[in-house]
Amino acid sequence: MSPAAFVTRFAPSPTGYLHRGHAFSALTACQAARDAANEGLSGRFLLRLEDIDATRCRPQFEAAIYEDLAWLGLHWEQPVRRQSEHMADYGAALRDLSERGLTYRCFRTRREVAEAIESAPHGAMEAFRGGPLPADEEEARVEAGEAYAWRLSLDAAERALGGFGALTFDEQGQGPNGKHGVIQARPELGGDVVLARKDVGVAYHLAVVVDDALQGVTQVIRGQDLFAATHVQRLLQALLALPTPAYRHHRLLTGPDGKRYAKRDRAETLRDLRASGMTPQTLRAELGF
Ligand code: GLU
Repeated sequence: MSPAAFVTRFAPSPTGYLHRGHAFSALTACQAARDAANEGLSGRFLLRLEDIDATRCRPQFEAAIYEDLAWLGLHWEQPVRRQSEHMADYGAALRDLSERGLTYRCFRTRREVAEAIESAPHGAMEAFRGGPLPADEEEARVEAGEAYAWRLSLDAAERALGGFGALTFDEQGQGPNGKHGVIQARPELGGDVVLARKDVGVAYHLAVVVDDALQGVTQVIRGQDLFAATHVQRLLQALLALPTPAYRHHRLLTGPDGKRYAKRDRAETLRDLRASGMTPQTLRAELGF
């Protein structure tokens, strides 16, 4: 009998250099795959490049991801999946949802979306809920060549599934307040998320659920900053009849100023640490590996 599958991934976007927070995330995922292998599971660690946004991704950041992760002592399977090479997969998933009436074209600008959220009855915290335009107006705007995004219609999704009550996921790490175990997904908190951006043709949530399924990912290991994303992604998995992996959200590292590491803090990139003479052993030990 083949060993039970344990497949996890690290999925950075090549829009900047990796920092300590990325190192922690990648080490956590890689270590989990190794632990699984030691327990007799298949224990695979994948690297995926989330490079759908051609305007922000740069080849030098992609090259640096490979260099930095290798420097850290990580090994990942080949070939690396680059999302930009798989737009047809995301297009097929979008078409599937659209043909079932679960999406609508959204012509609003960012500012218009922000204004719509602010004027919603429950105030500024409300996530965006829109809906399709009247058919004749939509047709006229498409014909006029106006750009539009595709959004998921939560109302249509709720009708299609008969409610969101059955949408749960297994949290094996630390959700908000350290919660773990079976968690009820609340996709309504995300609003009508964008599935395909005006400029890019796909958007983050859709690409992630399609890839996690196609790559056979059984455990998503990533930072708590993506906890809200999991609720949305759980809904997309249900709508696309994709398997739901287990989730392990890990704590976020904070710098000396108490703020979490972000790409803009250039001083904390792995390549700068390396240039300053830090060894991978020191960094791994600092991060608890
Ligand atoms: N590409 C995302 C990021 O860099 C991570 C996506 C994920 O782990 O699902 O934050």
